[in-house]
Amino acid sequence: MDIQTILEYQKLDFEKVKISKKLTETEEYRRYVHANEAMKKAIDNVAKMSTRAEQLFEKAEDVSRKFESASKEYDEIAGAAEGLEQDLKRAEFYSKTLESLAAQLEQLEKEASAIATELNALSKEGEAEIASANKNAAIKKNSMVKVEELKAGFASTIDEIGAKQRELEEKADPQLLSIYRNARKQVKSFPVIVALRDEKLCGCGIELSAAELGKLKDGEPFVTCPTCGRLVYKPQQ
Ligand SMILES: [Zn+2]
Repeated sequence: MDIQTILEYQKLDFEKVKISKKLTETEEYRRYVHANEAMKKAIDNVAKMSTRAEQLFEKAEDVSRKFESASKEYDEIAGAAEGLEQDLKRAEFYSKTLESLAAQLEQLEKEASAIATELNALSKEGEAEIASANKNAAIKKNSMVKVEELKAGFASTIDEIGAKQRELEEKADPQLLSIYRNARKQVKSFPVIVALRDEKLCGCGIELSAAELGKLKDGEPFVTCPTCGRLVYKPQQ
């Protein structure tokens, strides 16, 4: 089994990963990511504020309806109470009702004022968030251009690596290549294929079982480490 080709293939994969890491570690790329996140957050905040504003408008309408109805009731009772000074009992009842209505109206006024204050604050915060979204969108656009330039600088190297990999794909045992690709998805870091250490250890330091070591001895190209998922091969002496 030709492990050597797969090892070369892995090396090239690692080269590609290192290049993309170089790119993501640049100041411009970080600026791009940061601006993108900040922009998304600002847009999200604006959406939340607008939902809250809608709720407040509905509440304001409700308060206004209640105010109108209590105020109408007040006027009616105030009118009916006029000239009732002789009927003390009814006059007292009317006076109590009017007091209670006046308290209700005062409370509704307070609610309306609180709603207005919150809407005012929301509108100011909303403007600030929109400004932040716009500012970050501009930064994002700007840094994206620079990131694209950086990417273009790496493009020829990436192309060369790709060409070498295609050559290796022609040569490689398809089954081994497929095992390697699947393991790469699981392991997510390099190296995915590791040499057996001290006749018994995986690259992660775990000792392989007698059964797994037996498979390697019997000529299986790799065994999968049960702990880290890496492919372990027996190096030729
Ligand atoms: Zn392992």
